[in-house]
Amino acid sequence: MTQDALREQLRRAGLRATSQRLLVLELVNRERHLNVEGLTRSAQEAGAALDLSTAYRTLEALNEAGLVTHAHLGAGPPTYHAVDAVPHIHLVCRSCGSIGSVAAEKVEPALKAVSTATGFTADLRHLVMHGVCTACNGTDQS
Ligand SMILES: [Zn+2]
Ligand SMILES: [Zn+2]
Ligand SMILES: [Zn+2]
Repeated sequence: MTQDALREQLRRAGLRATSQRLLVLELVNRERHLNVEGLTRSAQEAGAALDLSTAYRTLEALNEAGLVTHAHLGAGPPTYHAVDAVPHIHLVCRSCGSIGSVAAEKVEPALKAVSTATGFTADLRHLVMHGVCTACNGTDQS
């Protein structure tokens, strides 16, 4: 995504296009999955100074403005996504900790069934499924 497109995203969300917001939005769009520590690391690699608390505050602001989303993949800080990422559900392996994903549309029938039965609407992007990955299948005894 070009700097102009990023600037336009921020403007439309009513946020001033500060260099920090531009940088964070650019990195999340490029890396697709980033937590706050990964974000500061990527910023460093890009030659920009971004401390943890600034990174955290900027992500929060972008999240609130709807420009990024997040999911909770583990006990640590949430993982952030570009908002235009193809909707997917994260699959976290309880045995090896690997993170996979499945297109949201594959799971939609199940979510519809939940909604029909209970009236509850699940937040797709926020959803994480825990289980056992293919590699661990058969060896996992837990
Ligand atoms: Zn994801
Ligand atoms: Zn959350
Ligand atoms: Zn596994």
